[in-house]
Amino acid sequence: MSVRETYEYNRLTWPEMNDAIEMQKVVILPTGSTEQHGPHMPLDVDLFLATSVCHELGRRAPDKVLVLPAIPYGLNMHHIDFPGTIHIQPDHFIDFCVDVTKSVAYHGFKRIALVNGHGSNGPMVDLVARRTVLETPSICCAFTYISLGWAEALKVLESEVHAHADEYETSLYLYFAKERVRFDKAVFGNDHVGQYMSSDSTKTVRFNDFWGRWTKTGVHGDPAKATPEKGKQILEIVMKHMLAWLDEYRVWPIEARSDQHRLPAQKEIRW
Ligand SMILES: [Zn+2]
Repeated sequence: MSVRETYEYNRLTWPEMNDAIEMQKVVILPTGSTEQHGPHMPLDVDLFLATSVCHELGRRAPDKVLVLPAIPYGLNMHHIDFPGTIHIQPDHFIDFCVDVTKSVAYHGFKRIALVNGHGSNGPMVDLVARRTVLETPSICCAFTYISLGWAEALKVLESEVHAHADEYETSLYLYFAKERVRFDKAVFGNDHVGQYMSSDSTKTVRFNDFWGRWTKTGVHGDPAKATPEKGKQILEIVMKHMLAWLDEYRVWPIEARSDQHRLPAQKEIRW
């Protein structure tokens, strides 16, 4: 396999890495979690789906991307009442991910992206991208793959409630690994919903409660409506947008900063 055909970051040797840097592939860091996903799916849903989506992108555009090994853990204390869930403190997560992106930037890759699969990692991957921009000469962006083409995905989905271990995630998991879904155990679940707030941050005022307070199944949505065919349709929607984003990002300008101070700024200050 040539460098042009290889999309997995750590499958390259160091001399091949020099070629990948010359090609200026976009380096992608998938972020997931090890977290309960109801009685019908394993704890690896966010990790497995984020990785699978990024690898699918890699298969379709191997000359444009390198996909790093994924971060398997995230912010999860709110799920800790369900056996098996692993929690990482937000500061640890952010610092660890920035160490990864800084290493990538050090080698000369100019464009880095975090592709997230766990909603609660959202604010943290945003900060990782911002810190990478501010602390390196490279640029870095972050998004949760579910948000790409969401309006189109809604047309594929039949249920009303979408959040966690739901019709969307279960359909994608069924598509990638049907044999690991205990579909006979898929049950509907909803959170406490008010006018402005809900216990799982689905309303305008942001609030996420301990899940042990409002659910006994760990499901938020209707996985019973999931099918592998819907998963395939969702994947194609996400891929269409990811490939378009990738082409936009690959040529995104990285211009020299212009300093507007009349007198020299005191640039020796270290942040
Ligand atoms: Zn999930």
